[in-house]
Amino acid sequence: MSENRPNPKVKCIVNTCTHWMPGNKCAAANIDILNEEVGKMSTIPEQTECKTFAERRGIANMLGSSDNVNWVGFAEEMVGQGRQLNPTVTCVVDTCKYWYDGNLCNVEAIEIVGKKVSECQATDCATFEYSGRPSKNEKMQQAREKGEKFR
Ligand code: SF4
Ligand code: SF4
Repeated sequence: MSENRPNPKVKCIVNTCTHWMPGNKCAAANIDILNEEVGKMSTIPEQTECKTFAERRGIANMLGSSDNVNWVGFAEEMVGQGRQLNPTVTCVVDTCKYWYDGNLCNVEAIEIVGKKVSECQATDCATFEYSGRPSKNEKMQQAREKGEKFR
């Protein structure tokens, strides 16, 4: 991760996710924060989602997600190196006042929430705050939904 890249500390309470770790940590290497409904830019936290959510189904599911695991952070966390296990955050929700050029998030910490979650739409970035600005990101999100890379 570049030193200059703004990136929040991620707290997540969605313990049904395969990336969730005790201590409300996220073991994914990167998380994608999107608008829940394609083409409808968020004005409240409930309209955002953590697209990286994947329902936990035992150890096989954890291994299945191994291409997006922060293994270095994971190992350091286990041996108590003092560095925090934390994913990079990519966010297309440019109606949020913390959104930063390049689909980054420029706030100290974010919290991902959701109760009894079994699909990513039920997760929210609770830290979202509406900026009141129009969005330029709708097309990018549509491409992302179709599986194209948006960055
Ligand atoms: S819901 Fe998102 S932030 Fe939470 S553990 Fe899963 S991938 Fe990480
Ligand atoms: S706080 Fe705003 S910019 Fe940061 S991840 Fe949440 S919605 Fe995106």
